[in-house]
Amino acid sequence: MDRDHDVPILLTPGPLTTSAQVRGAMRRDWGSRDADFVALTAGVRERLVSLVGGKGTHVCVPVQGSGTFAIEATIGTLVPRDGKALVLVNGAYGRRMVHILERIGRAVAALEAPEEAPHPVAGLDAVLAGDDTISHVLAVHCETTSGILNRIDEIAAAVAARGRGLIIDAMSSFGGIPISARDTPFDALVAASGKCLEGVPGLGFALLRREALEASEGNAHSLSLDLYEQWNSMERDGQWRFTPPTHVVAALSAALDALEAEGGVEKRLARYQENCRVLVEGMREMGFETVLADEVQAPILVTFHVPADPRFRFDSFYAAMRSRGFLIYPGKLTQAESFRIGCIGNLDEAVIRKALAAVHETIAEMGLESCGRRAA
Ligand SMILES: *Cc1c(COP(=O)(O)O)cnc(C)c1O
Repeated sequence: MDRDHDVPILLTPGPLTTSAQVRGAMRRDWGSRDADFVALTAGVRERLVSLVGGKGTHVCVPVQGSGTFAIEATIGTLVPRDGKALVLVNGAYGRRMVHILERIGRAVAALEAPEEAPHPVAGLDAVLAGDDTISHVLAVHCETTSGILNRIDEIAAAVAARGRGLIIDAMSSFGGIPISARDTPFDALVAASGKCLEGVPGLGFALLRREALEASEGNAHSLSLDLYEQWNSMERDGQWRFTPPTHVVAALSAALDALEAEGGVEKRLARYQENCRVLVEGMREMGFETVLADEVQAPILVTFHVPADPRFRFDSFYAAMRSRGFLIYPGKLTQAESFRIGCIGNLDEAVIRKALAAVHETIAEMGLESCGRRAA
């Protein structure tokens, strides 16, 4: 792990800590219509498709903006105006997809489940069997709200068995948890540059089943968020339709080099798992309690209960960690009071151990006697 020592370490789910190599790739300018940049874009698109083993069957369409822009573009492009989406919700990102569908005027139903367990796949088949108008199912792979890993393979199998299309929000898992288009059939998988791929934020992309994309002409509600048109343009002359985030693409290309050099997604997963294991073990030793059971915890980010001790204040905890060079993340659960610490980015367990030492100093400074959770 290489890094500058004067910038804080981001223990957040994105933007996250990047390598000097990735940041260095942004040190030159690119003409957006120049052959060099056209080749850079083409290379990135191809390598992203190969990460899911989708060569020949799937295409990559990038779009400017944060991850949500890519989700909104994918939903608007694939779900026809007379289609209907069923969203599996067990956290804020599932709920956000429901809001997108409402906002763009598509029929939507939600299958809501508690935030602290994987979405139960059991009810899905019955809902699909009972409603022929559902054209697409939308699911979140790792729900970053809690850090839970949903059972995406089972969801994909249930959706495929009923002949519907699946759109996966794999924003916080892609590049860190393997997923294959062969074993997990999907119409679209959506992710972004600035999470487990360890690039910088600024673009999202969808990996789309080519036939599903080909059938989507004219669906989109938006000019700029039309992935069919974006794809058309890229296939025609390799160009983005509107000003591309050139430096972000260059950084993503360097990030993909680093992923290959690391040994691929499996190896990265192993590093994240080690980060997560060391983090959870160390926090538990200090008395902190995780919200999730270990079996359902994705090695992406961990949600901890706020300690019961009234001297604990998240704002002061954050500031004390900040002063020691670590940025952590507030909680987003609707039920429990919590905070989150990420395991992803250009970090290894040595960094996690330093973060644990910072937590140790901080709780001593705050005078906490116990870090156990507040009784529910
Ligand atoms: C980060 C994230 C998104 C996208 O959020 P942006 O702030 O728009 O980048 C979507 N879904 C999940 C699960 C995420 O973790």
